[in-house]
Amino acid sequence: CGIVGYVGKSSSIGVLMGGLRRLEYRGYDSAGIAVIDDDGQLNTAKRAGKLAMLADELAKHPIPDGHTGIGHTRWATHGSPNDCNAHPHLGDEGKLALIHNGIIENFAPLKDELLAEGFSFTSETDSEVAAVLLGREYQRTQDLGASFAAVVARLEGAFTLLAVHEDAPGVVVGARRNSPLVIGLGEGENFMGSDVAAFVEHTRRAVAVGQDQIVTITPDAVAVTDFDGNPVETTEFDVAWDA
Ligand code: GLU
Repeated sequence: CGIVGYVGKSSSIGVLMGGLRRLEYRGYDSAGIAVIDDDGQLNTAKRAGKLAMLADELAKHPIPDGHTGIGHTRWATHGSPNDCNAHPHLGDEGKLALIHNGIIENFAPLKDELLAEGFSFTSETDSEVAAVLLGREYQRTQDLGASFAAVVARLEGAFTLLAVHEDAPGVVVGARRNSPLVIGLGEGENFMGSDVAAFVEHTRRAVAVGQDQIVTITPDAVAVTDFDGNPVETTEFDVAWDA
């Protein structure tokens, strides 16, 4: 339902929780974050309920902070609103995390394919299929961009996806089809959000992502391509916001 991604100089937990707070108006039933810490380890915290439940969880069981992360608020469509079904979902034996807005229409045949290959699932969501598929593709290619492109090519329906992998600290990949995604441009930091509200506290410089496009952000660069990997032109706009 709400999505935020961050890479840069600041504490990612602070940026992610702030972004999710600003996206609260959308309504949601669960929230979660995944952060790559400064030792290159991926850590996740997620909880059913309001953002306060996640903040509580982080206070009781803190996760190490870092400079790369993704955050999600969920509006459940597949699987009840519980802790397991909350995003992020993991792949590649916990080395990657993925969040998803929307509905993956063909998740059932994809899940059957992955189950037949011996992959297992911990949630009832359509979204986890994208995470497990990304893990499988990554194991084949060892390349986050290439495996992410291979995943989006197989998905039908509506999705905004963001993913991070331990092997690529300082990188967040994203994609969209029939669901919104906006880039926020900073100085030595960059953002993605389902809405400019996700990052408007930090920058007013934004780029709208077009239909069927893939985005890669690092602290100093933003690259946008189509699903086939061809670079696309982007146009920057200023966020007008009274908050
Ligand atoms: N279909 C996904 C789920 O049920 C994502 C829902 C959303 O957009 O928040 O977990």
